[in-house]
Amino acid sequence: MPPEDRDAAGPVVDAGRDSCRSRRTLGAMTPVTDRPGLVGIARYWFGGRPPGNTSRHRDVEGGTWRAAVLGAGDGLLTNVSLVLGVAGASASPSTVRLAGVAGLLAGAFSMAAGELISVRAQHEMVQRELQVERQELADDPDAERRELAAMYRARGVPADDADTVARILSLDAKVALDTHARLELGINPEARGAASRASAVSFLAFSVGAILPLFPWFFVHGGAGVVASVIIGAVAALLLGALIGTFAARGIVRSALRQLAVATVAAAVTYGVGSLLGVSAT
Ligand SMILES: [Zn+2]
Repeated sequence: MPPEDRDAAGPVVDAGRDSCRSRRTLGAMTPVTDRPGLVGIARYWFGGRPPGNTSRHRDVEGGTWRAAVLGAGDGLLTNVSLVLGVAGASASPSTVRLAGVAGLLAGAFSMAAGELISVRAQHEMVQRELQVERQELADDPDAERRELAAMYRARGVPADDADTVARILSLDAKVALDTHARLELGINPEARGAASRASAVSFLAFSVGAILPLFPWFFVHGGAGVVASVIIGAVAALLLGALIGTFAARGIVRSALRQLAVATVAAAVTYGVGSLLGVSAT
């Protein structure tokens, strides 16, 4: 759901009404506020835009790209660690390849399934809230119309105009539900969670990231394979980190270096553990 709608509706709803079951339920499930602090930072990170920026387009289009870049970053980190960990145990190149391919598939399927489940769950939650609102509209249309008028008044619409707007919008059941959903629940009832698309993007993105450090092992092995994985992994981590930095609208260099640092630590630890286990196994 678009958070900006929730924010826009938040104070209005508080001022105009307190009789609706549906919004309370939804609010309890997805608390979103405009305040800075942890919530603001989380929104900034996951929403890809600074608090106060209500541009909608960036969220919609940036959302898929950001998910793709983050997914590729996950795939890269997973397989840099996995490939180097197995290589560190001095395993044969075919074992390294097997581990890398297994890591790629396992991660990609896991990401895709997670995406599918979360988008479906979100969609079901929205449908449930809409059903509650639909019932309220059917049970007491007059109260709902007054509630709507109150929400417009609280937005600064003069009382007479607010009543008129509320009356017109309440004439048609579908329009009424749509308006209540947007103003009161902060959800767009027509938004369809693109579960399969999000899922496919996650699968592909993770695979692209995961194939990079694995790729050289189809041609070289041993020390050369390790060096190639490290170089490819480092360059890819810098590039992905820089991309993540542009989405978060902050220091690109810092973001790139941070991604590289995370990848380095992960790879060094798994390589070290792999070496230790490899020695103890022989
Ligand atoms: Zn309502």
